[in-house]
Parts: sequence; structure tokens; C-alpha cells
Amino acid sequence: MDKASFDMQKLKNPESSGTEYQNGDQKGFWNVREYVLFRGPHECQHCHGKKKDPVFNVHHIESRKTGGNSPSSLIALCEMGHNEYHDKIKSGKTKSPEDFKLPKRAKPYRDAAGMGIMRSTPLERLKEANPDLEGVNTYGCLTKNKRIELNLAKEHYNDAYWIAGNPNAKPLEQCLDLKKTRRHNRQIHQFNFIQGHKRKSNQTDQMVGGFCLFDQVKFEGQECLITGRRKSGSFVLKTLSGQRIHNSASIRKLVLIERADGYLKETEVRQFLAIQTA
Ligand SMILES: [Zn+2]
Ligand SMILES: [Zn+2]
Repeated sequence: MDKASFDMQKLKNPESSGTEYQNGDQKGFWNVREYVLFRGPHECQHCHGKKKDPVFNVHHIESRKTGGNSPSSLIALCEMGHNEYHDKIKSGKTKSPEDFKLPKRAKPYRDAAGMGIMRSTPLERLKEANPDLEGVNTYGCLTKNKRIELNLAKEHYNDAYWIAGNPNAKPLEQCLDLKKTRRHNRQIHQFNFIQGHKRKSNQTDQMVGGFCLFDQVKFEGQECLITGRRKSGSFVLKTLSGQRIHNSASIRKLVLIERADGYLKETEVRQFLAIQTA
């Protein structure tokens, strides 16, 4: 990720509590504050926009002393609501965050796992495995310059070729497309969080007759994906590029090729390094 307004690496071990506070490090807080505003939800977690105050503050659910600057302890409140809360706590009118209808602290590690920041970056791992490796990091703007200079079509696989840094390499004739599919339904997740602190399953990929959403199947000789199910029990089939194959295909005509694993795959013959024609 480039041009992010916060430093992902500095969000590592966000659950380590209090150390930054004890060191008096406010820089750590400003970094995690940017992250919390980026993460959302993008509305005040107290009044949900009712106060119409556009100024956001980032509030520590658990005190900075005990909870540190962990993203799971931080929420966005509008400034009016935030001041109101602290005034009420100070005067004793409100005894606890729950009295003021503030959400509970999120599960630890949710942010870290969600952003993939528990692991080292791919570049770090490459360098660990190959200590004499250097200069493999590149920036999108440089790749773009090269592409425009050579008048190449704007395709990810052309960019990847230049990023590899070996202009004499013979390109492959095939290209593997991967697309990430949705694994969870965030909306179900959020609504159920409120109800009695119990969480219903937010999995969308239930099995129907041995098939589930995004399974790769063969239908009348054509490879495609299950993208939906009709009430009648038949399936909607599409190719990865979105072309509709069948609106209501019978289960008896489906042959499983590959089980959905979170990625959609399609291998296509492509002309690498094609010159831009338009
Ligand atoms: Zn508010
Ligand atoms: Zn606060």
C-alpha cells in the first residue's frame, strides 16, 4: 500500500499496552489515530450522526494507561459527543462507558489480523531468505512511467513484467487471474454484535446439494463459477470476467472442478507487452 496516511509497521503489536504512554510517545497515538479514522465505521459511535457535528475525535474506550494506544481500544466520536462524555464522567453524572452507550472494546487482534500486519511484509521475508538481495522495492509511479514510455497497454501483467526488472526475460503466453471473493457478510456481523453480545455465524458460503458460492464448475463443456442460487434450487453461472453463462442451471449438469477457496482463478492466453493501440 503506498501513500497511506499511517505507518502499518508501527501498528504491529497494537495490543502491547501502555508502553507508549509510559514513554510519553504521542507520535504513536497520532499514527494509530489516523488508522482508526481510516478503519471506520465513519460515523460517531455514540450519536451515529444525530448531533451533525462533522469534527471527529478519537476516544480511548479503555484508559490510555491500561489499554495503551491499541486500535481495538479506540473509537471515533464526534467532538460534541466526546466532550459531553468526558464532562459527564468528570461530574459523576455518567458512571461507565456503557451508561453513555459507547460500544465495548473490540476483540483484540481483529485489526491486526484484518490488515495482515501481524506478518512481516513480503519484502522483509524475501530479504530474510536472500540476505544479499537489494533494490527489489519499486514504486507504482516508476512502473507507470516505463509503461507510458514504451506505449504499452495498461495491464497489471505488463506492469508486473517491468517490476521484475529483467527486460530480456521471455514473457509467458498465459496469465493467471486471481480475484478475492467475499468470505463474510460484514453487515450480518455488525448487526448481530449489538444483540446480547452474541454473534451469529456470518459465513455466507453454505452448501447446497454439494455446491457452494464461487465453486468452479463445468457446465456443458464451459468452465464457470457459481455466482448465485435460485429459490428453485438451480444456479446462476458466470465466467470470472462476469459473462453470464446460465441464469438457472440445473444441478445435474454441474461438474465440480475446484472448490471455492477465497480466490477466483482463470487462466487466459494473453499477449504480454502488447503495444497500446487506442
Ligand atoms: Zn456524536
Ligand atoms: Zn475520550
